[in-house]
Amino acid sequence: MINIIFFGPPGAGKGTQAKIISNKLSLPHLSTGDILRSKIKQNDNLALEVKDIIANGKLVPDNILNKIVSEKLIDDCKNGFILDGYPRTLDQSKFLNNLLNEYSLNLNYIFNISVNFELLTKRILNRSIEENREDDNADVIKTRYQEYKNTTQKVSDFYKTVYKEIFHEVDGDAEIEEITKKIIKILKNR
Ligand code: AMP
Repeated sequence: MINIIFFGPPGAGKGTQAKIISNKLSLPHLSTGDILRSKIKQNDNLALEVKDIIANGKLVPDNILNKIVSEKLIDDCKNGFILDGYPRTLDQSKFLNNLLNEYSLNLNYIFNISVNFELLTKRILNRSIEENREDDNADVIKTRYQEYKNTTQKVSDFYKTVYKEIFHEVDGDAEIEEITKKIIKILKNR
Protein backbone atom coordinates (compact mmCIF):
# COMPACT_ATOMS: atom_id res chain seq x y z
CA MET A 1 0.00 0.00 0.00
CA ILE A 2 1.36 3.42 -0.95
CA ASN A 3 -0.20 6.73 0.06
CA ILE A 4 0.96 9.81 -1.82
CA ILE A 5 0.18 13.54 -1.76
CA PHE A 6 0.99 15.96 -4.59
CA PHE A 7 1.37 19.65 -3.75
CA GLY A 8 2.04 22.56 -6.07
CA PRO A 9 0.47 25.74 -7.45
CA PRO A 10 -2.25 25.55 -10.14
CA GLY A 11 -0.62 24.60 -13.44
CA ALA A 12 2.41 22.96 -11.81
CA GLY A 13 1.50 19.65 -13.45
CA LYS A 14 0.49 17.82 -10.27
CA GLY A 15 -2.66 16.46 -11.91
CA THR A 16 -0.67 15.23 -14.91
CA GLN A 17 1.94 13.51 -12.75
CA ALA A 18 -0.65 12.12 -10.32
CA LYS A 19 -2.48 10.55 -13.28
CA ILE A 20 0.69 8.97 -14.71
CA ILE A 21 1.79 7.59 -11.34
CA SER A 22 -1.73 6.39 -10.60
CA ASN A 23 -1.67 4.32 -13.83
CA LYS A 24 1.83 2.99 -13.23
CA LEU A 25 1.16 1.92 -9.64
CA SER A 26 -2.55 1.12 -10.06
CA LEU A 27 -3.46 3.49 -7.27
CA PRO A 28 -6.68 5.50 -7.14
CA HIS A 29 -6.15 9.14 -8.13
CA LEU A 30 -8.20 11.49 -5.98
CA SER A 31 -8.27 14.88 -7.67
CA THR A 32 -10.55 17.11 -5.61
CA GLY A 33 -10.75 19.55 -8.55
CA ASP A 34 -12.04 16.74 -10.83
CA ILE A 35 -14.48 15.54 -8.16
CA LEU A 36 -15.84 19.08 -7.67
CA ARG A 37 -16.15 19.62 -11.44
CA SER A 38 -18.21 16.44 -11.74
CA LYS A 39 -20.37 17.54 -8.74
CA ILE A 40 -21.15 20.77 -10.61
CA LYS A 41 -22.85 18.74 -13.34
CA GLN A 42 -25.49 17.58 -10.80
CA ASN A 43 -26.98 21.09 -10.99
CA ASP A 44 -28.40 21.16 -7.44
CA ASN A 45 -27.94 24.00 -4.89
CA LEU A 46 -24.55 22.74 -3.78
CA ALA A 47 -23.46 22.49 -7.40
CA LEU A 48 -24.40 26.11 -8.06
CA GLU A 49 -22.51 27.29 -4.95
CA VAL A 50 -19.41 25.29 -5.88
CA LYS A 51 -19.54 26.38 -9.53
CA ASP A 52 -19.48 30.04 -8.56
CA ILE A 53 -16.57 29.62 -6.13
CA ILE A 54 -14.45 27.66 -8.63
CA ALA A 55 -15.22 30.08 -11.47
CA ASN A 56 -13.87 32.89 -9.25
CA GLY A 57 -10.73 30.98 -8.29
CA LYS A 58 -11.55 30.87 -4.58
CA LEU A 59 -11.33 27.86 -2.31
CA VAL A 60 -14.45 25.75 -1.75
CA PRO A 61 -15.34 25.52 2.01
CA ASP A 62 -13.43 22.96 4.06
CA ASN A 63 -16.51 21.04 5.24
CA ILE A 64 -17.46 20.22 1.63
CA LEU A 65 -13.95 19.02 0.79
CA ASN A 66 -13.49 17.05 4.00
CA LYS A 67 -16.75 15.19 3.42
CA ILE A 68 -15.80 14.34 -0.18
CA VAL A 69 -12.34 13.11 0.76
CA SER A 70 -13.43 11.08 3.77
CA GLU A 71 -16.08 9.27 1.70
CA LYS A 72 -13.64 8.52 -1.12
CA LEU A 73 -10.80 7.47 1.15
CA ILE A 74 -12.99 5.07 3.07
CA ASP A 75 -14.77 3.64 0.02
CA ASP A 76 -12.12 3.49 -2.71
CA CYS A 77 -8.66 3.77 -1.20
CA LYS A 78 -8.12 0.76 1.02
CA ASN A 79 -5.06 -0.23 -1.00
CA GLY A 80 -3.50 3.20 -1.25
CA PHE A 81 -4.21 6.57 -2.82
CA ILE A 82 -2.81 9.58 -4.60
CA LEU A 83 -4.20 12.88 -3.34
CA ASP A 84 -4.05 15.72 -5.86
CA GLY A 85 -5.35 19.12 -4.74
CA TYR A 86 -6.06 18.17 -1.12
CA PRO A 87 -5.29 19.22 1.59
CA ARG A 88 -5.26 22.89 0.57
CA THR A 89 -5.89 24.50 3.99
CA LEU A 90 -4.58 23.82 7.49
CA ASP A 91 -8.07 22.77 8.56
CA GLN A 92 -8.12 20.18 5.75
CA SER A 93 -4.69 18.90 6.78
CA LYS A 94 -5.89 18.44 10.39
CA PHE A 95 -8.97 16.63 9.15
CA LEU A 96 -6.86 14.36 6.93
CA ASN A 97 -4.48 13.64 9.76
CA ASN A 98 -7.35 12.54 12.04
CA LEU A 99 -8.84 10.42 9.28
CA LEU A 100 -5.52 8.67 8.61
CA ASN A 101 -5.05 8.04 12.34
CA GLU A 102 -8.54 6.68 12.67
CA TYR A 103 -7.87 4.11 9.91
CA SER A 104 -4.23 3.48 10.96
CA LEU A 105 -2.92 4.78 7.63
CA ASN A 106 0.39 6.54 6.99
CA LEU A 107 1.60 8.88 4.30
CA ASN A 108 4.51 7.44 2.32
CA TYR A 109 5.46 10.17 -0.17
CA ILE A 110 4.78 13.85 -0.54
CA PHE A 111 5.82 15.55 -3.79
CA ASN A 112 5.88 19.33 -3.98
CA ILE A 113 6.07 20.49 -7.60
CA SER A 114 7.22 24.07 -8.01
CA VAL A 115 6.83 26.30 -11.06
CA ASN A 116 7.17 30.09 -11.41
CA PHE A 117 4.11 32.26 -12.02
CA GLU A 118 4.95 33.12 -15.67
CA LEU A 119 5.30 29.48 -16.72
CA LEU A 120 2.20 28.29 -14.90
CA THR A 121 0.13 31.09 -16.45
CA LYS A 122 1.37 30.03 -19.89
CA ARG A 123 0.57 26.39 -19.19
CA ILE A 124 -2.90 27.10 -17.85
CA LEU A 125 -3.77 29.31 -20.83
CA ASN A 126 -2.66 26.50 -23.17
CA ARG A 127 -4.70 24.00 -21.19
CA SER A 128 -7.78 26.24 -21.42
CA ILE A 129 -7.89 25.56 -25.16
CA GLU A 130 -7.98 21.78 -24.59
CA GLU A 131 -10.07 21.50 -21.44
CA ASN A 132 -12.37 24.51 -21.66
CA ARG A 133 -12.28 25.20 -17.90
CA GLU A 134 -14.07 28.34 -16.75
CA ASP A 135 -11.31 29.12 -14.23
CA ASP A 136 -8.45 28.84 -16.76
CA ASN A 137 -8.25 32.50 -17.74
CA ALA A 138 -5.70 35.20 -16.91
CA ASP A 139 -7.79 36.99 -14.22
CA VAL A 140 -8.84 33.88 -12.33
CA ILE A 141 -5.33 32.41 -12.52
CA LYS A 142 -4.12 35.39 -10.46
CA THR A 143 -6.71 34.69 -7.74
CA ARG A 144 -5.96 30.96 -7.74
CA TYR A 145 -2.26 31.68 -7.41
CA GLN A 146 -2.93 34.10 -4.52
CA GLU A 147 -5.05 31.44 -2.79
CA TYR A 148 -2.13 29.06 -3.23
CA LYS A 149 0.44 31.56 -1.87
CA ASN A 150 -1.73 32.74 1.04
CA THR A 151 -3.15 29.43 2.14
CA THR A 152 -1.93 26.22 0.49
CA GLN A 153 1.77 27.00 0.60
CA LYS A 154 1.47 27.18 4.39
CA VAL A 155 0.11 23.64 4.31
CA SER A 156 2.96 22.29 2.19
CA ASP A 157 5.46 24.18 4.41
CA PHE A 158 3.90 22.48 7.42
CA TYR A 159 4.27 19.03 5.80
CA LYS A 160 7.82 19.86 4.78
CA THR A 161 8.72 20.43 8.43
CA VAL A 162 6.75 17.60 9.98
CA TYR A 163 7.28 14.94 7.28
CA LYS A 164 10.89 15.77 6.35
CA GLU A 165 11.83 12.19 5.42
CA ILE A 166 9.05 11.69 2.89
CA PHE A 167 8.81 15.23 1.50
CA HIS A 168 10.35 15.65 -1.96
CA GLU A 169 10.78 18.91 -3.85
CA VAL A 170 10.33 18.49 -7.61
CA ASP A 171 11.29 21.08 -10.19
CA GLY A 172 8.18 21.47 -12.33
CA ASP A 173 9.85 23.53 -15.07
CA ALA A 174 11.12 20.39 -16.84
CA GLU A 175 9.29 18.32 -19.49
CA ILE A 176 6.54 15.97 -18.29
CA GLU A 177 8.58 12.78 -18.96
CA GLU A 178 11.59 14.22 -17.15
CA ILE A 179 9.53 15.00 -14.05
CA THR A 180 7.91 11.55 -14.11
CA LYS A 181 11.37 9.93 -14.25
CA LYS A 182 12.47 11.85 -11.16
CA ILE A 183 9.34 10.88 -9.26
CA ILE A 184 9.69 7.20 -10.22
CA LYS A 185 13.32 7.23 -9.13
CA ILE A 186 12.28 8.52 -5.70
CA LEU A 187 9.52 5.90 -5.48
CA LYS A 188 12.00 3.12 -6.35
CA ASN A 189 14.46 4.25 -3.68
CA ARG A 190 12.06 3.32 -0.95
P1 AMP B 1 -7.76 22.10 -9.30
O1 AMP B 1 -8.38 21.26 -10.39
O2 AMP B 1 -7.03 21.30 -8.27
O3 AMP B 1 -6.95 23.24 -9.85
O4 AMP B 1 -8.98 22.76 -8.52
C1 AMP B 1 -9.89 23.63 -9.16
C2 AMP B 1 -10.68 24.43 -8.13
O5 AMP B 1 -11.43 23.54 -7.29
C3 AMP B 1 -9.83 25.25 -7.15
O6 AMP B 1 -9.45 26.50 -7.69
C4 AMP B 1 -10.81 25.40 -5.99
O7 AMP B 1 -11.81 26.35 -6.27
C5 AMP B 1 -11.49 24.04 -5.96
N1 AMP B 1 -10.76 23.07 -5.08
C6 AMP B 1 -10.13 21.92 -5.46
N2 AMP B 1 -9.59 21.29 -4.41
C7 AMP B 1 -9.90 22.07 -3.33
C8 AMP B 1 -9.59 21.97 -1.94
N3 AMP B 1 -8.88 20.95 -1.44
N4 AMP B 1 -10.07 22.95 -1.12
C9 AMP B 1 -10.80 23.98 -1.59
N5 AMP B 1 -11.11 24.15 -2.88
C10 AMP B 1 -10.66 23.20 -3.76
